[in-house]
Amino acid sequence: MMPGKIEKVKIVCLTGGVISSLGKGITAAALGNLLKRRGYSIGIMKLDPYINLDPGTMSPFQHGEVYVTADGVETDLDIGHYERFLETDFTKSHNVTAGQIYDSVIRRERAGDYLGKTVQVIPHITDEIKSRILSVAKNFDLLIVEIGGTVGDIESLPFLEAIRQLKREIGQKNIAYLHLTLVPFLETTGEFKTKPTQHSVASLREIGIHPDVVLCRSKKNLDEEVREKISLFGDVELESVVSVPDVSSIYNVPNILKESGFDIRVLELLSLPLEKTNESAEKFGKEWDKFASSLLPHEEKIRVGIVGKYVGLHDAYKSVAEAVVHASAKKNVSSELVWIDSEAVERGIADLAQLDAMIVPGGFGERGVEGKITAIKYARENSLPFLGICLGLQCAITEFARNVCMLPGAHSVEFDEETKYPVIHIMDAQKGLKQKGGTMRLGVYPCRLRKNTIASMAYLKADYSEEEVFERHRHRYEVNNAYRDRLAENGMIFSGLSPDGLLVEIIELPKHKYFVATQFHPEFRSRPTSPHPLFLGLIEAAIKK
Ligand code: GLN
Repeated sequence: MMPGKIEKVKIVCLTGGVISSLGKGITAAALGNLLKRRGYSIGIMKLDPYINLDPGTMSPFQHGEVYVTADGVETDLDIGHYERFLETDFTKSHNVTAGQIYDSVIRRERAGDYLGKTVQVIPHITDEIKSRILSVAKNFDLLIVEIGGTVGDIESLPFLEAIRQLKREIGQKNIAYLHLTLVPFLETTGEFKTKPTQHSVASLREIGIHPDVVLCRSKKNLDEEVREKISLFGDVELESVVSVPDVSSIYNVPNILKESGFDIRVLELLSLPLEKTNESAEKFGKEWDKFASSLLPHEEKIRVGIVGKYVGLHDAYKSVAEAVVHASAKKNVSSELVWIDSEAVERGIADLAQLDAMIVPGGFGERGVEGKITAIKYARENSLPFLGICLGLQCAITEFARNVCMLPGAHSVEFDEETKYPVIHIMDAQKGLKQKGGTMRLGVYPCRLRKNTIASMAYLKADYSEEEVFERHRHRYEVNNAYRDRLAENGMIFSGLSPDGLLVEIIELPKHKYFVATQFHPEFRSRPTSPHPLFLGLIEAAIKK
């Protein structure tokens, strides 16, 4: 590719420095949100420097939730933030890992595409990274590219080198570099410390990237003096040192950034007009403002328990937590999330009586499963509003089979291969699969709703179809149809099925305030201004309680 050849794309690259977990994903998503309000079509992609092809096989303890896109790809949880802040569905091309880059380069090498050449990080790996970025960028007015990791990591280097090279290829006016750092506040001396930021900017410059904007995460707004210092040492304009203080909700970040004129600065850097006003952008902005203002602490408060085994790391259930926020805002209540370790339920030391609603989210592996089943029994017997998701549905079936249908020892074959009553079993297509990565039922599948059920009514009320809905999946096991009659005879309703009727998608118990469980993951489709109907149903039931 020759310099200046590609002119149409506009790209914003966001890197991070000093420490990880500063909220780069939220910052990228918030910028996207602001630019969408100005009428631009915005794409965001995440480049992850790890070797895994996708995060599907990583532990949620380490990496947080695995987000699933509509096209059935397991991605980084930041893609969830992008989809929520932009209210747009993205595809697999929006999460690229070093593993994917190396995989395609090595495949091409084997196919003989580089015959005679030595395949190297520069140019082959960096070319592949650039081509992935450019092929996404051409679909949008502007593409935001978030580089995972922190400047200084060995793994990030090829990615940083690739975005450095992009400037020469697409032209200076078409690319902007943003750098997010931490500016710690020293309580003892009562001052902000800019040294880590200075070092971080210096490391970035060492590899040839001169940031256009430095975003500074800090406890509170930075003083003018501190910004001046960063401007001087970092060699960036004063108005390009943007303060990003802690806020009570991530959904307030767009407004904080807007107040500093950050979005305007980015458009100026890219020589783009400030507005491309159109009706849908205005509507989007208005709805978002309404949503953000409905996040204020409400008088009415409810406690929503999330019973899981990864509760030590809240990021593991990111989308579930956000779906509760969206639904609560719509219903004008404040929800407090109560994290309940399912193993604590097993040991009998969890306080379930404090809850107004219970969610049992998805999961893998046996640990904590009995605790989930016990928690669900409590919800069923005490008419506590309940939403089970994926493994949550499977545990609800197991609990009902054991305690209501009198099938002692009923279980999922995932946890007990020898069970006498395998109420949850493996799909034929999955049998014998040895490979672990990417071998599940993933992505969007249709679900037919049964009329006049709690589920169909919830969808109808939220303006969805009352007949067929499309929801995202990530699982291997399914309800065993051999037990459907027995479960139904005892009062369980199958309110959602696959169109061929063979797969159970939603179950519910009618003689209960709200007892609904889904084989799919409704949380992946919840958006700030359009909360998921089944979460709305749960929150509504909790308020009535
Ligand atoms: N482990 C279960 C399965 O694979 C549930 C998966 C999940 O909850 N996402 O079917």
